[in-house]
Amino acid sequence: MMVIKDLPPIPLYKLLFYVLIIKLISIISVIVGLTGHCIYYTITETIHLIKIILYGNDDNAIKWENTKTLFDASKRTNEYYMLIIGSGFSGLGLAIKLNEIGMFNYMILERHSRLGGTWHANQYPGCACDVVSNLYSFSFQQNPNWSHYYSRQDEIWKYLEYCADKYHLMKNIQFNTNVSQCHWIEERQQWRVTFNDNQYLYAQYLVGGYGPLSNAKYPDNIEGIRTFQGDQFHSANWDTSYLLDKKRVAVIGTGASAIQIVPEIQKQVKQLFVFQRTPGWIVPREDRKVTEFEKKIFAYFPWIQKLVRGCLYWTYETTVLSFVYRWPLRHVLQMLMKYNLYSQVKDPELRKKLTPKFELGKVSFLSVNSDDSNEPMSVGQ
Ligand SMILES: Cc1cc2nc3c(=O)[nH]c(=O)nc-3n(C[C@H](O)[C@H](O)[C@H](O)COP(=O)(O)OP(=O)(O)OC[C@H]3O[C@@H](n4cnc5c(N)ncnc54)[C@H](O)[C@@H]3O)c2cc1C
Repeated sequence: MMVIKDLPPIPLYKLLFYVLIIKLISIISVIVGLTGHCIYYTITETIHLIKIILYGNDDNAIKWENTKTLFDASKRTNEYYMLIIGSGFSGLGLAIKLNEIGMFNYMILERHSRLGGTWHANQYPGCACDVVSNLYSFSFQQNPNWSHYYSRQDEIWKYLEYCADKYHLMKNIQFNTNVSQCHWIEERQQWRVTFNDNQYLYAQYLVGGYGPLSNAKYPDNIEGIRTFQGDQFHSANWDTSYLLDKKRVAVIGTGASAIQIVPEIQKQVKQLFVFQRTPGWIVPREDRKVTEFEKKIFAYFPWIQKLVRGCLYWTYETTVLSFVYRWPLRHVLQMLMKYNLYSQVKDPELRKKLTPKFELGKVSFLSVNSDDSNEPMSVGQ
Protein backbone atom coordinates (compact mmCIF):
# COMPACT_ATOMS: atom_id res chain seq x y z
CA MET A 1 0.00 0.00 0.00
CA MET A 2 1.26 3.42 -0.87
CA VAL A 3 1.96 5.84 2.01
CA ILE A 4 0.78 9.38 1.42
CA LYS A 5 2.62 11.86 3.59
CA ASP A 6 0.99 14.71 5.46
CA LEU A 7 2.64 17.36 3.28
CA PRO A 8 2.89 20.94 4.54
CA PRO A 9 0.54 23.40 2.81
CA ILE A 10 1.65 24.36 -0.68
CA PRO A 11 2.74 27.99 -1.23
CA LEU A 12 0.11 30.09 -2.98
CA TYR A 13 2.16 30.57 -6.17
CA LYS A 14 2.47 26.77 -6.54
CA LEU A 15 -1.24 26.32 -5.95
CA LEU A 16 -2.07 28.91 -8.59
CA PHE A 17 0.34 27.21 -10.97
CA TYR A 18 -1.43 23.85 -10.46
CA VAL A 19 -4.85 25.42 -10.95
CA LEU A 20 -3.57 27.04 -14.14
CA ILE A 21 -2.29 23.68 -15.44
CA ILE A 22 -5.67 22.05 -14.80
CA LYS A 23 -7.54 24.90 -16.51
CA LEU A 24 -5.17 24.79 -19.48
CA ILE A 25 -5.54 21.01 -19.89
CA SER A 26 -9.33 21.35 -19.65
CA ILE A 27 -9.38 24.04 -22.33
CA ILE A 28 -7.16 22.00 -24.65
CA SER A 29 -9.25 18.85 -24.18
CA VAL A 30 -12.49 20.80 -24.78
CA ILE A 31 -11.11 22.29 -28.01
CA VAL A 32 -9.74 18.94 -29.26
CA GLY A 33 -12.87 17.05 -28.15
CA LEU A 34 -15.38 19.46 -29.68
CA THR A 35 -13.42 19.63 -32.93
CA GLY A 36 -13.47 15.82 -33.05
CA HIS A 37 -17.21 15.86 -32.38
CA CYS A 38 -17.80 18.34 -35.24
CA ILE A 39 -15.75 16.24 -37.68
CA TYR A 40 -17.60 13.08 -36.61
CA TYR A 41 -21.05 14.67 -37.06
CA THR A 42 -20.10 16.22 -40.38
CA ILE A 43 -18.97 12.84 -41.75
CA THR A 44 -21.93 10.80 -40.40
CA GLU A 45 -24.53 13.40 -41.41
CA THR A 46 -23.03 13.63 -44.92
CA ILE A 47 -23.18 9.83 -45.31
CA HIS A 48 -26.77 9.87 -44.02
CA LEU A 49 -27.72 12.61 -46.50
CA ILE A 50 -26.07 10.75 -49.41
CA LYS A 51 -28.04 7.59 -48.48
CA ILE A 52 -31.31 9.52 -48.49
CA ILE A 53 -30.47 11.08 -51.88
CA LEU A 54 -29.45 7.71 -53.39
CA TYR A 55 -32.09 5.42 -51.87
CA GLY A 56 -34.79 7.97 -51.10
CA ASN A 57 -35.54 6.76 -47.58
CA ASP A 58 -34.37 7.31 -44.06
CA ASP A 59 -32.09 4.67 -42.59
CA ASN A 60 -33.55 5.19 -39.16
CA ALA A 61 -36.94 3.93 -40.22
CA ILE A 62 -35.99 0.31 -39.62
CA LYS A 63 -38.76 -2.15 -40.32
CA TRP A 64 -39.53 -4.17 -37.26
CA GLU A 65 -41.48 -7.05 -38.85
CA ASN A 66 -38.49 -9.26 -38.10
CA THR A 67 -38.78 -8.50 -34.42
CA LYS A 68 -41.84 -10.69 -33.91
CA THR A 69 -41.14 -13.40 -31.42
CA LEU A 70 -40.73 -16.94 -32.73
CA PHE A 71 -44.21 -17.71 -31.45
CA ASP A 72 -47.20 -15.76 -32.63
CA ALA A 73 -47.28 -12.77 -30.31
CA SER A 74 -50.91 -12.02 -31.14
CA LYS A 75 -51.94 -15.31 -29.51
CA ARG A 76 -49.63 -15.06 -26.52
CA THR A 77 -49.79 -12.01 -24.34
CA ASN A 78 -46.82 -13.09 -22.27
CA GLU A 79 -44.22 -12.75 -25.05
CA TYR A 80 -42.15 -9.74 -25.98
CA TYR A 81 -39.30 -9.02 -28.30
CA MET A 82 -37.42 -7.46 -25.40
CA LEU A 83 -37.75 -7.34 -21.62
CA ILE A 84 -35.92 -4.67 -19.66
CA ILE A 85 -35.38 -5.03 -15.92
CA GLY A 86 -35.46 -1.67 -14.13
CA SER A 87 -36.93 1.76 -14.79
CA GLY A 88 -33.97 3.96 -13.85
CA PHE A 89 -31.94 6.06 -16.27
CA SER A 90 -30.75 2.92 -18.13
CA GLY A 91 -34.12 1.24 -18.63
CA LEU A 92 -35.92 4.45 -19.58
CA GLY A 93 -33.13 5.60 -21.90
CA LEU A 94 -33.22 2.32 -23.78
CA ALA A 95 -37.03 2.38 -24.01
CA ILE A 96 -37.00 5.91 -25.46
CA LYS A 97 -34.53 4.83 -28.13
CA LEU A 98 -36.60 1.70 -28.93
CA ASN A 99 -39.70 3.86 -29.41
CA GLU A 100 -37.68 6.18 -31.62
CA ILE A 101 -36.92 3.38 -34.09
CA GLY A 102 -40.49 2.13 -33.97
CA MET A 103 -39.92 -0.94 -31.82
CA PHE A 104 -42.75 -1.10 -29.31
CA ASN A 105 -42.79 -4.80 -28.54
CA TYR A 106 -41.04 -4.56 -25.19
CA MET A 107 -41.86 -4.27 -21.50
CA ILE A 108 -39.97 -2.72 -18.59
CA LEU A 109 -40.28 -4.76 -15.40
CA GLU A 110 -39.98 -2.65 -12.25
CA ARG A 111 -40.25 -4.01 -8.73
CA HIS A 112 -41.15 -0.64 -7.20
CA SER A 113 -44.48 1.11 -7.65
CA ARG A 114 -42.79 4.19 -9.12
CA LEU A 115 -40.15 4.66 -11.80
CA GLY A 116 -36.78 6.39 -11.35
CA GLY A 117 -34.58 3.66 -9.81
CA THR A 118 -31.79 5.30 -7.79
CA TRP A 119 -33.62 8.63 -7.82
CA HIS A 120 -36.81 7.13 -6.44
CA ALA A 121 -35.10 4.94 -3.85
CA ASN A 122 -32.65 7.47 -2.39
CA GLN A 123 -34.66 10.16 -0.62
CA TYR A 124 -32.27 10.99 2.20
CA PRO A 125 -31.57 14.61 3.20
CA GLY A 126 -29.12 16.29 0.83
CA CYS A 127 -29.40 13.62 -1.86
CA ALA A 128 -28.06 15.06 -5.13
CA CYS A 129 -26.02 14.06 -8.15
CA ASP A 130 -22.29 14.68 -8.18
CA VAL A 131 -21.90 15.22 -11.89
CA VAL A 132 -23.22 18.57 -13.16
CA SER A 133 -26.86 18.23 -14.22
CA ASN A 134 -26.26 19.64 -17.67
CA LEU A 135 -24.26 16.47 -18.24
CA TYR A 136 -26.07 14.10 -15.86
CA SER A 137 -29.23 13.99 -17.99
CA PHE A 138 -30.24 12.56 -21.36
CA SER A 139 -28.37 14.24 -24.23
CA PHE A 140 -31.55 14.25 -26.32
CA GLN A 141 -33.69 15.73 -23.54
CA GLN A 142 -31.95 18.75 -22.15
CA ASN A 143 -33.58 20.50 -19.23
CA PRO A 144 -33.12 24.28 -19.19
CA ASN A 145 -34.80 24.49 -15.77
CA TRP A 146 -32.37 22.72 -13.44
CA SER A 147 -32.46 24.79 -10.28
CA HIS A 148 -28.85 24.02 -9.27
CA TYR A 149 -25.63 23.05 -11.00
CA TYR A 150 -25.90 19.73 -9.15
CA SER A 151 -29.58 18.87 -8.99
CA ARG A 152 -31.29 17.45 -5.97
CA GLN A 153 -32.93 14.03 -5.89
CA ASP A 154 -36.54 15.22 -6.21
CA GLU A 155 -35.73 17.27 -9.31
CA ILE A 156 -33.94 14.37 -11.03
CA TRP A 157 -36.79 12.04 -10.13
CA LYS A 158 -39.34 14.51 -11.59
CA TYR A 159 -37.16 14.84 -14.70
CA LEU A 160 -37.28 11.05 -15.23
CA GLU A 161 -41.06 11.02 -14.72
CA TYR A 162 -41.37 13.85 -17.23
CA CYS A 163 -39.29 11.87 -19.77
CA ALA A 164 -41.40 8.73 -19.25
CA ASP A 165 -44.54 10.77 -19.85
CA LYS A 166 -43.21 12.75 -22.81
CA TYR A 167 -41.90 9.66 -24.62
CA HIS A 168 -45.04 7.59 -23.85
CA LEU A 169 -43.28 4.92 -21.81
CA MET A 170 -45.86 4.40 -19.05
CA LYS A 171 -47.86 1.80 -20.96
CA ASN A 172 -44.66 -0.22 -21.36
CA ILE A 173 -43.78 -0.34 -17.66
CA GLN A 174 -45.07 -3.12 -15.45
CA PHE A 175 -44.72 -1.93 -11.84
CA ASN A 176 -44.60 -4.04 -8.64
CA THR A 177 -42.86 -6.75 -10.63
CA ASN A 178 -39.91 -8.26 -8.83
CA VAL A 179 -37.86 -10.42 -11.20
CA SER A 180 -36.50 -13.44 -9.37
CA GLN A 181 -35.19 -15.69 -12.15
CA CYS A 182 -34.09 -15.49 -15.78
CA HIS A 183 -33.66 -18.70 -17.69
CA TRP A 184 -32.64 -19.15 -21.34
CA ILE A 185 -34.77 -21.81 -23.06
CA GLU A 186 -32.79 -23.26 -25.93
CA GLU A 187 -35.66 -24.87 -27.84
CA ARG A 188 -37.74 -21.67 -27.80
CA GLN A 189 -34.70 -19.41 -28.28
CA GLN A 190 -36.20 -17.19 -25.64
CA TRP A 191 -35.68 -16.01 -22.09
CA ARG A 192 -38.16 -17.11 -19.51
CA VAL A 193 -38.31 -14.37 -16.89
CA THR A 194 -39.96 -15.27 -13.59
CA PHE A 195 -41.35 -12.51 -11.40
CA ASN A 196 -43.33 -12.25 -8.17
CA ASP A 197 -42.36 -15.89 -7.54
CA ASN A 198 -44.52 -17.81 -9.94
CA GLN A 199 -45.51 -15.58 -12.86
CA TYR A 200 -43.42 -15.39 -16.00
CA LEU A 201 -42.93 -13.71 -19.36
CA TYR A 202 -40.90 -14.70 -22.42
CA ALA A 203 -38.62 -12.55 -24.55
CA GLN A 204 -36.08 -12.93 -27.27
CA TYR A 205 -33.86 -10.29 -25.68
CA LEU A 206 -33.35 -9.48 -22.02
CA VAL A 207 -31.68 -6.29 -20.83
CA GLY A 208 -30.56 -5.71 -17.25
CA GLY A 209 -31.03 -2.10 -16.19
CA TYR A 210 -31.20 -3.06 -12.52
CA GLY A 211 -28.35 -0.82 -11.29
CA PRO A 212 -26.57 -1.26 -7.99
CA LEU A 213 -27.64 1.74 -5.93
CA SER A 214 -31.39 1.39 -5.57
CA ASN A 215 -30.93 -1.56 -3.20
CA ALA A 216 -30.33 -0.94 0.48
CA LYS A 217 -27.33 -3.13 1.33
CA TYR A 218 -27.01 -3.75 5.06
CA PRO A 219 -23.66 -4.78 6.52
CA ASP A 220 -23.61 -8.26 8.03
CA ASN A 221 -20.31 -7.82 9.89
CA ILE A 222 -21.42 -5.30 12.51
CA GLU A 223 -22.15 -7.15 15.68
CA GLY A 224 -25.42 -6.15 17.30
CA ILE A 225 -26.82 -4.29 14.30
CA ARG A 226 -29.88 -6.53 14.23
CA THR A 227 -30.60 -6.21 17.93
CA PHE A 228 -29.96 -2.44 18.17
CA GLN A 229 -32.83 -0.99 20.22
CA GLY A 230 -32.88 2.51 18.71
CA ASP A 231 -34.35 3.51 15.36
CA GLN A 232 -32.19 2.79 12.33
CA PHE A 233 -32.50 3.03 8.59
CA HIS A 234 -30.39 2.80 5.44
CA SER A 235 -29.70 5.83 3.23
CA ALA A 236 -31.37 4.02 0.29
CA ASN A 237 -34.43 3.37 2.45
CA TRP A 238 -34.74 6.65 4.32
CA ASP A 239 -37.80 7.14 6.49
CA THR A 240 -38.78 10.63 5.31
CA SER A 241 -41.42 10.95 8.07
CA TYR A 242 -38.83 10.44 10.82
CA LEU A 243 -37.88 13.54 12.83
CA LEU A 244 -34.19 13.75 13.72
CA ASP A 245 -34.62 16.88 15.82
CA LYS A 246 -32.69 16.81 19.08
CA LYS A 247 -31.67 13.16 18.63
CA ARG A 248 -28.24 11.53 19.11
CA VAL A 249 -27.44 10.18 15.68
CA ALA A 250 -24.63 7.98 14.36
CA VAL A 251 -23.84 7.75 10.66
CA ILE A 252 -21.94 4.65 9.62
CA GLY A 253 -19.73 5.30 6.62
CA THR A 254 -18.17 8.31 4.93
CA GLY A 255 -18.90 7.48 1.31
CA ALA A 256 -20.81 9.40 -1.36
CA SER A 257 -24.17 9.25 0.45
CA ALA A 258 -22.88 9.97 3.99
CA ILE A 259 -21.03 12.99 2.71
CA GLN A 260 -24.34 14.44 1.54
CA ILE A 261 -26.35 13.38 4.59
CA VAL A 262 -24.00 14.62 7.34
CA PRO A 263 -23.94 18.35 6.44
CA GLU A 264 -27.75 18.32 6.13
CA ILE A 265 -28.69 16.54 9.36
CA GLN A 266 -26.02 18.13 11.55
CA LYS A 267 -28.20 21.27 11.51
CA GLN A 268 -31.04 19.40 13.27
CA VAL A 269 -29.60 16.76 15.55
CA LYS A 270 -28.49 17.08 19.18
CA GLN A 271 -25.28 15.11 18.71
CA LEU A 272 -23.76 13.51 15.65
CA PHE A 273 -21.17 10.74 15.38
CA VAL A 274 -19.63 9.78 12.06
CA PHE A 275 -17.95 6.39 11.85
CA GLN A 276 -15.30 6.12 9.20
CA ARG A 277 -13.43 3.02 8.13
CA THR A 278 -11.60 4.35 5.05
CA PRO A 279 -11.14 8.04 4.30
CA GLY A 280 -11.69 9.11 0.70
CA TRP A 281 -10.35 11.97 -1.40
CA ILE A 282 -12.62 14.97 -1.12
CA VAL A 283 -13.14 17.56 -3.80
CA PRO A 284 -15.13 20.74 -3.11
CA ARG A 285 -18.35 20.74 -5.11
CA GLU A 286 -18.72 24.18 -6.64
CA ASP A 287 -22.49 24.16 -6.58
CA ARG A 288 -24.72 27.15 -7.03
CA LYS A 289 -28.24 28.08 -8.07
CA VAL A 290 -28.82 28.47 -11.79
CA THR A 291 -29.99 32.03 -12.39
CA GLU A 292 -33.27 32.86 -14.15
CA PHE A 293 -31.22 34.54 -16.88
CA GLU A 294 -29.22 31.34 -17.52
CA LYS A 295 -32.43 29.31 -17.63
CA LYS A 296 -33.91 31.69 -20.24
CA ILE A 297 -30.73 31.51 -22.34
CA PHE A 298 -30.85 27.68 -22.25
CA ALA A 299 -34.58 27.65 -23.08
CA TYR A 300 -34.33 30.05 -26.04
CA PHE A 301 -31.00 28.84 -27.37
CA PRO A 302 -30.80 25.07 -26.69
CA TRP A 303 -27.56 24.87 -28.69
CA ILE A 304 -25.84 26.91 -25.98
CA GLN A 305 -26.82 24.28 -23.39
CA LYS A 306 -25.56 21.60 -25.81
CA LEU A 307 -22.26 23.44 -26.11
CA VAL A 308 -21.96 23.71 -22.32
CA ARG A 309 -22.69 19.99 -22.12
CA GLY A 310 -19.98 19.25 -24.70
CA CYS A 311 -17.45 21.29 -22.71
CA LEU A 312 -18.40 19.53 -19.46
CA TYR A 313 -18.16 16.16 -21.15
CA TRP A 314 -14.62 16.72 -22.37
CA THR A 315 -13.48 18.23 -19.08
CA TYR A 316 -14.77 15.19 -17.15
CA GLU A 317 -13.33 12.81 -19.77
CA THR A 318 -9.84 14.25 -19.33
CA THR A 319 -10.03 13.79 -15.56
CA VAL A 320 -11.21 10.19 -15.90
CA LEU A 321 -8.60 9.40 -18.56
CA SER A 322 -5.88 10.78 -16.29
CA PHE A 323 -6.87 8.17 -13.70
CA VAL A 324 -7.28 5.30 -16.17
CA TYR A 325 -4.01 5.95 -18.01
CA ARG A 326 -2.22 7.31 -14.92
CA TRP A 327 -1.35 10.66 -16.48
CA PRO A 328 0.58 13.17 -14.28
CA LEU A 329 -2.58 15.31 -14.13
CA ARG A 330 -3.87 13.11 -11.34
CA HIS A 331 -0.91 14.14 -9.12
CA VAL A 332 -1.85 17.77 -9.63
CA LEU A 333 -5.46 16.98 -8.68
CA GLN A 334 -4.31 15.02 -5.65
CA MET A 335 -2.16 17.95 -4.56
CA LEU A 336 -5.15 20.27 -4.79
CA MET A 337 -7.28 17.88 -2.75
CA LYS A 338 -4.58 17.78 -0.09
CA TYR A 339 -4.53 21.54 -0.05
CA ASN A 340 -8.29 21.47 0.45
CA LEU A 341 -7.88 19.13 3.43
CA TYR A 342 -5.25 21.45 4.90
CA SER A 343 -7.40 24.52 4.55
CA GLN A 344 -10.47 22.79 6.05
CA VAL A 345 -9.01 20.71 8.90
CA LYS A 346 -6.49 22.43 11.16
CA ASP A 347 -6.02 19.65 13.73
CA PRO A 348 -3.07 17.49 12.50
CA GLU A 349 -4.34 14.36 14.30
CA LEU A 350 -7.77 14.60 12.71
CA ARG A 351 -6.21 15.47 9.36
CA LYS A 352 -4.13 12.30 9.53
CA LYS A 353 -7.27 10.27 10.11
CA LEU A 354 -8.92 11.94 7.14
CA THR A 355 -6.00 11.49 4.72
CA PRO A 356 -6.57 8.59 2.29
CA LYS A 357 -3.94 5.88 2.18
CA PHE A 358 -4.47 5.15 -1.49
CA GLU A 359 -3.59 7.14 -4.57
CA LEU A 360 -6.25 9.37 -6.10
CA GLY A 361 -8.18 7.58 -8.83
CA LYS A 362 -8.06 4.06 -7.39
CA VAL A 363 -11.49 4.68 -5.88
CA SER A 364 -13.78 7.44 -7.13
CA PHE A 365 -13.38 10.68 -5.22
CA LEU A 366 -16.15 12.32 -3.23
CA SER A 367 -17.55 15.76 -3.80
CA VAL A 368 -19.03 17.91 -1.10
CA ASN A 369 -20.51 21.41 -1.27
CA SER A 370 -17.76 23.87 -0.56
CA ASP A 371 -19.89 25.71 2.01
CA ASP A 372 -20.74 22.44 3.78
CA SER A 373 -17.23 21.35 4.49
CA ASN A 374 -17.25 22.01 8.23
CA GLU A 375 -14.98 19.88 10.32
CA PRO A 376 -16.72 16.65 11.27
CA MET A 377 -18.07 16.74 14.81
CA SER A 378 -16.78 13.35 15.82
CA VAL A 379 -14.85 10.76 13.89
CA GLY A 380 -14.47 7.15 15.01
CA GLN A 381 -12.12 4.71 13.39
C1 LIG B 1 -26.89 9.83 -4.31
C2 LIG B 1 -26.43 9.32 -5.62
C3 LIG B 1 -25.80 10.19 -6.52
C4 LIG B 1 -25.36 9.74 -7.74
N1 LIG B 1 -24.79 10.62 -8.58
C5 LIG B 1 -24.35 10.20 -9.77
C6 LIG B 1 -23.75 11.11 -10.68
O1 LIG B 1 -23.62 12.29 -10.39
N2 LIG B 1 -23.30 10.64 -11.85
C7 LIG B 1 -23.43 9.32 -12.18
O2 LIG B 1 -23.02 8.94 -13.28
N3 LIG B 1 -24.01 8.45 -11.35
C8 LIG B 1 -24.47 8.84 -10.16
N4 LIG B 1 -25.05 7.95 -9.32
C9 LIG B 1 -25.18 6.55 -9.73
C10 LIG B 1 -26.59 6.25 -10.27
O3 LIG B 1 -27.05 5.12 -9.60
C11 LIG B 1 -26.56 6.03 -11.75
O4 LIG B 1 -26.07 7.20 -12.39
C12 LIG B 1 -27.91 5.75 -12.42
O5 LIG B 1 -28.97 6.40 -11.77
C13 LIG B 1 -28.14 4.27 -12.49
O6 LIG B 1 -29.28 4.07 -13.26
P1 LIG B 1 -29.74 2.61 -13.63
O7 LIG B 1 -31.00 2.76 -14.43
O8 LIG B 1 -28.64 1.87 -14.26
O9 LIG B 1 -30.02 1.90 -12.23
P2 LIG B 1 -31.00 2.31 -11.06
O10 LIG B 1 -31.30 3.75 -11.07
O11 LIG B 1 -30.42 1.72 -9.83
O12 LIG B 1 -32.36 1.56 -11.42
C14 LIG B 1 -32.47 0.18 -11.32
C15 LIG B 1 -33.93 -0.19 -11.26
O13 LIG B 1 -34.03 -1.59 -11.38
C16 LIG B 1 -35.00 -2.05 -10.50
N5 LIG B 1 -34.71 -3.44 -10.15
C17 LIG B 1 -33.57 -3.92 -9.61
N6 LIG B 1 -33.65 -5.24 -9.45
C18 LIG B 1 -34.87 -5.59 -9.92
C19 LIG B 1 -35.56 -6.85 -10.01
N7 LIG B 1 -35.01 -7.97 -9.60
N8 LIG B 1 -36.80 -6.84 -10.55
C20 LIG B 1 -37.37 -5.69 -10.98
N9 LIG B 1 -36.77 -4.49 -10.90
C21 LIG B 1 -35.54 -4.46 -10.38
C22 LIG B 1 -34.88 -1.14 -9.28
O14 LIG B 1 -36.07 -1.12 -8.52
C23 LIG B 1 -34.59 0.19 -9.96
O15 LIG B 1 -35.77 0.91 -10.21
C24 LIG B 1 -25.52 8.37 -8.08
C25 LIG B 1 -26.14 7.51 -7.20
C26 LIG B 1 -26.61 7.96 -5.99
C27 LIG B 1 -27.30 7.01 -5.05
